[in-house]
Amino acid sequence: MDRVTMAHGAGGQIMQSLIENFILKNLGGSGFEVPLEALDDASVANGIVLKSDSHAVKPLFFPGGNIGRLAVAGTVNDIAVLGAEPLALSSALILEEGLPLGDLEKILKSMKETCEEAGVYIITGDTKVVERGALGGCVINTSGIGLRSEALEENLKIVNKYRPMRNRWLLDSNLRSGDKIIISGSVGDHGLAVLSSQEGYNFGSQIVSDVKPLNKMIRSLLEVGGIVAMKDPTRGGLSNALNEWSVKSKVGILVKEADIPIHRDVKAACEMLGIDPLEVGNEGKVIIGVVREMAEEVLETLKSLPEGREASIIGEISDQFSEVVLETVVGGRRILPAPLGDPIPRIC
Ligand code: MG
Repeated sequence: MDRVTMAHGAGGQIMQSLIENFILKNLGGSGFEVPLEALDDASVANGIVLKSDSHAVKPLFFPGGNIGRLAVAGTVNDIAVLGAEPLALSSALILEEGLPLGDLEKILKSMKETCEEAGVYIITGDTKVVERGALGGCVINTSGIGLRSEALEENLKIVNKYRPMRNRWLLDSNLRSGDKIIISGSVGDHGLAVLSSQEGYNFGSQIVSDVKPLNKMIRSLLEVGGIVAMKDPTRGGLSNALNEWSVKSKVGILVKEADIPIHRDVKAACEMLGIDPLEVGNEGKVIIGVVREMAEEVLETLKSLPEGREASIIGEISDQFSEVVLETVVGGRRILPAPLGDPIPRIC
């Protein structure tokens, strides 16, 4: 294989190998507090959190959202899951010849509304136009910066009451045996909503994307305290995010299938299409690693918020094994591997 394939962008093992064998081989080497090599949701240089994210979702509009909302929420969430407060974004538009200006206006209005929801501003940007081709209308890159907050400091003080954590940010490598894992809500909705508009599927009832900025919800959880790691399970879904945690923290993870919230219509659609909902990307959910003593309190707060009503403790870090292990509904156990890639293309 000597050319890029769609799987190289699908957020699974194949994309991971592209990142390691090409991107990390050639770039990186900064030595900053959280460098490129950490491959975390965002990086940190001199106390400033920085994230860049390109959005190439197809189609531009889908049930529950559009590329503009996705572009703002995606970057805001990657900054927020490090424990930082997002401050400002950039927006780079690559427009394809032929894109209706009415669509562009709708996308920009949606970006503005999503910024207001998150409490951030877009303060710089760029616009390019390319010939008609494969973009599907436009591609949007947003980058963003964030800063440490009082809520993060307080959260870390509470973590340190229960166990020492030297790291100052909520990184994928922070998990230790005994930590509990919470998911903020149901999985699979976003990917299936995009798929339904890509393929014109009618799943009986409409499946709606969960795309949403989560920084305010995350701030409320940091105020409760005890959180050691957070991640948004986007491309490759919950399976991929848990495997990243397991590898980077060098821990085993046990999750209970019965405790993972999945909407009935998402489950039915996945069964019909032969897709594993745990491998489907989400855009409005986080997984939260929390010291066990604080897990119930964090869960309770989450459930009191509109974004977290369906939250659930889905598992824990275990020193019994070194992989991600799924306890199935019938009680058996099997390894939950990192997917080769997200089963649905171009969802973000
Ligand atoms: Mg992320």
